[in-house]
Amino acid sequence: NEFEDYYLKRELLMGIYEMGYEHPSPIQEESIPIALTGRDILARAKNGTGKTAAFIIPVLEKVNVSKNEIQALLLVPTRELALQTAQVCKQLGKHMNVQVMVSTGGTNLKEDILRLNNTVHICVATPGRILDLAQKNVADFTKCNVVVMDEADKLLSPEFQPIVEQLINFLPKSRQILLYSATFPVTVKQFKEKYLVKPYEINL
Ligand code: AMP
Repeated sequence: NEFEDYYLKRELLMGIYEMGYEHPSPIQEESIPIALTGRDILARAKNGTGKTAAFIIPVLEKVNVSKNEIQALLLVPTRELALQTAQVCKQLGKHMNVQVMVSTGGTNLKEDILRLNNTVHICVATPGRILDLAQKNVADFTKCNVVVMDEADKLLSPEFQPIVEQLINFLPKSRQILLYSATFPVTVKQFKEKYLVKPYEINL
């Protein structure tokens, strides 16, 4: 397979090749075409397989940068991972004019509020702060049709799980969920039963 096979926007394809990616990795071959159809995904995936680009490429393809709306929420368990993920988004989306925001705890809340006064297309976040912003009606997720849960086993730990569920309830009912996890504890299985619709399962 080739990245050209997915009929991606030219600006996105440029970003992919500038990263030095020549061919899709196995998880990308499985994820990208399915995610582009709008179907939910449940993927068992380790770090180092190219999973970050496997969900960011379809997210970037779906984003319409001419709309001033949060169109994708990328949930991750740590600030460090949020910063890394946002970096990959910005690199792959370098030619797209896409606006990416990172929102995590341990930073100034006012800065997040100010940032949200400007255009944000993709929000990369840990669960707590962004729920706070959604509850305060500062972050508007009513047009956010895609949610990614990276390291979902950690996102569904007892500490985070109720926050993640409340957050999901701020999104449209027809949202697409792309869930990536290294392990499948019972919390992930329960989340799957409750929130995913006929997910395409990837087991590499
Ligand atoms: P990840 O599993 O997302 O942490 O990615 C692991 C590494 O693989 C990162 O350094 C990526 O930049 C790189 N990578 C991702 N996709 C590809 C690809 N299709 N070809 C070559 N390298 C890639």
